[in-house]
Amino acid sequence: MSQLNPPQAQAVHYTVGPLLVLAGAGSGKTKVITEKIAHLIADRGLAPAKIAAITFTNKAAKEMRERIGKRLRADRTEGLNICTFHSLGLRFLQIEHAAAGLRRGFSIFDSDDSAGLLKELLPKGAKPDAVDALRGLISRAKNDGLSPEQAAERAASPREHEAAEAYAEYQRRLAAFNAVDFDDLIRLPVALLEADAERAAAWRERLRYLLVDEYQDTNLTQYRLLTLLAGPRGAFTCVGDDDQSIYAWRGANPENLDQLGKDYPNLKVIPLEQNYRCTRRILRAANTLIANNPHLHVKKLWSEHAEGEPIRVWECRDAEHEAERVAAEISFLQQTRKFAWSDFAVLFRGNFQSRAIEKALQLLKIPYHLSGGTAYLDRGEVKDLLAWLRVLANPDDDAAFLRAIGAPKRDVGTATLARLAELARHAGLPMSRAAGRIDLLKQLPARAASGLSEFATLVEQLRDHARGSEPAEVCRQTLERSGLLAALRAQCKDESGFQRRRANLDELSSWLEGAKGSGLDGLANQLTLLGHADRGEAGEAVRLMSLHASKGLEFRCVFVVGCEEGVLPHEASMEEGRLDEERRLMYVAITRAREQLVLSHSRQARKWGEVHRLEPSRFLSELPAEDLLRDGEDPALHAEVKQERTRARMGAIAALLGD
Ligand code: ATP
Ligand code: MG
Repeated sequence: MSQLNPPQAQAVHYTVGPLLVLAGAGSGKTKVITEKIAHLIADRGLAPAKIAAITFTNKAAKEMRERIGKRLRADRTEGLNICTFHSLGLRFLQIEHAAAGLRRGFSIFDSDDSAGLLKELLPKGAKPDAVDALRGLISRAKNDGLSPEQAAERAASPREHEAAEAYAEYQRRLAAFNAVDFDDLIRLPVALLEADAERAAAWRERLRYLLVDEYQDTNLTQYRLLTLLAGPRGAFTCVGDDDQSIYAWRGANPENLDQLGKDYPNLKVIPLEQNYRCTRRILRAANTLIANNPHLHVKKLWSEHAEGEPIRVWECRDAEHEAERVAAEISFLQQTRKFAWSDFAVLFRGNFQSRAIEKALQLLKIPYHLSGGTAYLDRGEVKDLLAWLRVLANPDDDAAFLRAIGAPKRDVGTATLARLAELARHAGLPMSRAAGRIDLLKQLPARAASGLSEFATLVEQLRDHARGSEPAEVCRQTLERSGLLAALRAQCKDESGFQRRRANLDELSSWLEGAKGSGLDGLANQLTLLGHADRGEAGEAVRLMSLHASKGLEFRCVFVVGCEEGVLPHEASMEEGRLDEERRLMYVAITRAREQLVLSHSRQARKWGEVHRLEPSRFLSELPAEDLLRDGEDPALHAEVKQERTRARMGAIAALLGD
């Protein structure tokens, strides 16, 4: 505790009412949360199970768990809830499933599953764009907290009416599958808490104190969940930075910062002004850049650190050249300056940009770890295994059944499956159960029937086995006995390819090691949620990630590649008038760096075989020139110019003070 500065300490100790810590990057907001959790447990005697800390990603939750682990002994944190809004919602629904009209073991549909459902609702031959558009509309309605009925009432145009109808039908089908989608994980708890004051009171008793990190990126339903759980007493601490709001495109609502003050007139706001992360140059660059955005809350941010080295701006020929320079520089700093591989991060705007970097790092044998967003769960082998686990956990999950029965391929064709679906519907059974009913299978050709019953028997055996086993063990058994592993081996051209894809699957089961005894029904859901996160240890390796994924993290040395008009700021964002958000993204990127920052751009890019000219990002010209070192500039000369300017500035200030 001794390390906290006075406003930080004040924020940690303030528990008599709702609190918002509104402060810039690297000022110790996340530190306030971890210290406050320790304080509540160790000094206030609050049971860990009564505290919920909500982070923006699973990865951040994991980091926070580690930070707390260092502060308190493991037996003192038992039961502590460190989660995301989604995993909190999942926990809520696992307890309240009956009230939400769900049966135990319900499934979570990921966005692919949802898209599959929606496709069936649209006329045959509808474009993927139409599915996406519909999914977007339904998701928007859900995030605004609207039920299908409410959406129908509000629909103004024929198009909105159609969407509301599709929404209603989509919900009916989800219910038939005993499933929810990601948005429901928040919307349903909100609806249940709003409808039932007693239930809300019970939950407020269950969770006595809430802490929310990255508050600026909550959306409307998340905000409602927070206020419903916190209740009128407002037992919460939110920390955030409006300059780091970078998810408005996904429905996050920075106005929630002001809403909090309206809903809780006794809200205490504590600013933090000292940055502990960055050198002065880096901080000055960040402050100067973000000053170009309009501001509701003006924040000061200063640092006691040294000036540090100038920020380097590289002009490269193209992305390959840029990647080579990044790799060479990393290698150089690692060898000459005692940097560890994990001290480096390479940040990019779009995932496609990682390929060139990966190639260059591979060439120099530099270990790296690419944070995948949802890419991990999109891998075929992972989805196949997940489908099996979902079938085991939830016999009603027809979508999972359809995927599992085709993985690996067996003697059951689509015509058979269509026929089975019909028989199942008539019998009022889910497909996985119908497949095990001899009386129904009699109506099918012998070969098809035997293929189905074989599958059903295997599922039944695995399910029996699962009841008494640890989740990780279930995962391993399923992988073997389903034939997935053998199929994967047969599919891969070489051993290293097989090992790589196998490692993806092992990652699933190793993650499950931590989920001991959580039962099969919770398991598949946890896995689906995990798709939003990074799994596995990054270890001693250079970090590669998108700008969005870097939020909240810090590194000694940061490279931001692709600082070009159209990339950063992104073309689509500019067209949609979201330049401010792109600038905040750049602000987030710059403030990840503790000591060294390199911003690079290319002169040209190849697109569909044609060479395009690229212009450097406008954000580069918004940075203080005296803190930058451009290609070809002499560092020694640079220092002189800098000194000159500082002297001039000091003179001006002295004159102002009348000195
Ligand atoms: P961001 O806005 O990027 O999420 P943040 O405000 O959450 O940043 P933290 O990550 O909590 O900031 O802290 C930034 C760094 O400063 C961390 O390395 C943290 O350990 C350090 N730090 C925070 N407060 C103090 C302090 N009082 N004394 C020393 N170091 C501190
Ligand atoms: Mg933080």
